[in-house]
Amino acid sequence: MEPILENNRKWVDKQRAADPQFFERLADGQKPRYLFIGCSDSRVPASAITGTGPGEMFVHRNIANMVVHTDFNLLSVLQYAVEVLGVQDIMVVGHYGCGGVAAAATNKQYGLIDGWLTNIRDVIRVHETEFLRIKDEEQRLRRLVELNVIEQVRNLAKTNIIQNAWKTANPPRLHGLVYDIKEGLLKDLEVEGAQLTELAHIYSTEIAAHAEKVLEEQVGQEVTENRPSLLPSKEAAREEKKAEKSEEKQLNKVS
Ligand SMILES: [Zn+2]
Repeated sequence: MEPILENNRKWVDKQRAADPQFFERLADGQKPRYLFIGCSDSRVPASAITGTGPGEMFVHRNIANMVVHTDFNLLSVLQYAVEVLGVQDIMVVGHYGCGGVAAAATNKQYGLIDGWLTNIRDVIRVHETEFLRIKDEEQRLRRLVELNVIEQVRNLAKTNIIQNAWKTANPPRLHGLVYDIKEGLLKDLEVEGAQLTELAHIYSTEIAAHAEKVLEEQVGQEVTENRPSLLPSKEAAREEKKAEKSEEKQLNKVS
């Protein structure tokens, strides 16, 4: 760990020399503009390739930059970034030469990760015609990396977090990017417009009607401001106790 600690001390000195208030300012809180969802691959350092510094980008990374709807880690990051931090741009960043994507393109088992890779195999299934048409294996995998990013951006759009954000005045924009490790360049796949809305008739959702409205429709009752609460009020509870006691007294008299 010594090299890491040494690097850290040098970095602190450098930052302080350039900006004496750097750490004090960051300690006040964060208001990042971006959310980065990328691969855990060590060759894809989120801050370095985007030129962002501390405080500018909220980051979530997993194998093959997946947006899985049962992944509470990703969903928690997304909800916090959108609803609390108010990020303006969310980017799913894949990369050519992704080991996770390559593993998913084989028919081998890899152990625990197989379930995770199934999500990428689902991308192959959806795009099988295009995928199989590409004869060169490297080109096929490169395209799969892109298709995977496009599908993960679509997966973002399917979440109730983004669906609800779209109904606000300033929803975050969604982006799909691919990083080329060989060149160091990011490519914008321009996943937008129709690509995100073409399946809206299936995936678009609205926040459920107020519970009272559901009750009204199902039971056919008119819900008024003064309707009795399902939970007894304090007075109602007191009245009920009184009634119970007088009932007890009556019973005692009888016996
Ligand atoms: Zn990767």
